[in-house]
Amino acid sequence: MYTEYREMLAHKIAHLRLDHEEQMVEFELHNVCDLGRDTLDSTERSRARQMTLSRIRRIETQIQSYSNAIQRIENDHYGICKFCRESIELERLKSHPEVMTCAECAQYKN
Ligand SMILES: [Zn+2]
Repeated sequence: MYTEYREMLAHKIAHLRLDHEEQMVEFELHNVCDLGRDTLDSTERSRARQMTLSRIRRIETQIQSYSNAIQRIENDHYGICKFCRESIELERLKSHPEVMTCAECAQYKN
């Protein structure tokens, strides 16, 4: 039933993996620059590194939540609100396939 969502999730994950790779390269670059080849001072450099690192963490979290959603599809637990156990609105799943709550619970219980 949720094949379409599974594909969408897999697509998002593939996209995020590329993004993740790019950010990792950037992170490596910050480290290389630490050897003294750029003009940023060390405060700016460590700030840039922090930002890249938090982007990397965010991407990893997203990949994880999309993978979890795929797992739920495979285990037949997908599309059920974790609070009220009702079906999550299809429109909601379409725009955020990784959500675990219906619109109403998301509003009151988060
Ligand atoms: Zn609910």
